[in-house]
Amino acid sequence: EPLLQVEGVTLQYKTTDHLVTATYRVDFEVMPGDRYILLGPSGCGKSTLLKAIGGYMTPVEGEIKLKGRKVTEPGPDRMMVFQEFDQLLPWKTVKQNVAFALTASGRATGTEAMDRAMSYIEKVGLAKFADSFPHMLSGGMKQRVAIARGMAMEPDILLMDEPFAALDALTRRKMQDELLRLWDDTRFTVLFVTHSIEEAIKVGTRILLLSPHPGQVKAELNSLPASE
Ligand code: ADP
Ligand code: ADP
Repeated sequence: EPLLQVEGVTLQYKTTDHLVTATYRVDFEVMPGDRYILLGPSGCGKSTLLKAIGGYMTPVEGEIKLKGRKVTEPGPDRMMVFQEFDQLLPWKTVKQNVAFALTASGRATGTEAMDRAMSYIEKVGLAKFADSFPHMLSGGMKQRVAIARGMAMEPDILLMDEPFAALDALTRRKMQDELLRLWDDTRFTVLFVTHSIEEAIKVGTRILLLSPHPGQVKAELNSLPASE
């Protein structure tokens, strides 16, 4: 049973004088436990697709369904992690940042929120920094906090838009390795956007290659064996 179904989805932007077609009749399905990669050059519509799955944009054609139900608005069942580092509240500690997302959304309250926050902070290897403020952390560490926060919400699917793009090569490789281990252990379902073939092959279990020109070639590259 697919977790996410994207069926014939066309997405457009209206600008003052014209219409931009960002994706044209895209189809794919994400199964539970997949690390599904949307791969393609800049401008091929990856971010736009992610926004639509997040519920921030409505397809002009086609449908997006999560667990069989049509996606119509944003929700905590589809958490997004962006590439920017400045998404943490600077006056809250790492633990408070993660717990705040839980309490504000009603996913957990009080000590339960704090305990769950701490367990995900441990999972991304930042236990020692739970009481630090974001400004005390490096870029890579802040990004890990953002990922911990997204995962702590225990969404059906984690949507990530080039989450490692702003990291240096060494940090990126370390984060990929750590998250791969974590996702293998937890069987988290992840939908991941990248323009790096290397990253797609390393992190993904399935890769969808989007062509640079909407409405033209689109191929499901392969289905890689999940790393055990
Ligand atoms: P990618 O994430 O693959 O780089 P995007 O989804 O950002 O691609 O963009 C897909 C297409 O939509 C591009 O042609 C881009 O210029 C256009 N686009 C993206 N955002 C907007 C916007 N806010 N207004 C108009 N056009 C946009
Ligand atoms: P950057 O993103 O600035 O390249 P990294 O995330 O790669 O930094 O961090 C480099 C190393 O330094 C990591 O092993 C990390 O654990 C450590 N580190 C980074 N910031 C701190 C800090 N504030 N306190 C202690 N260790 C840190």
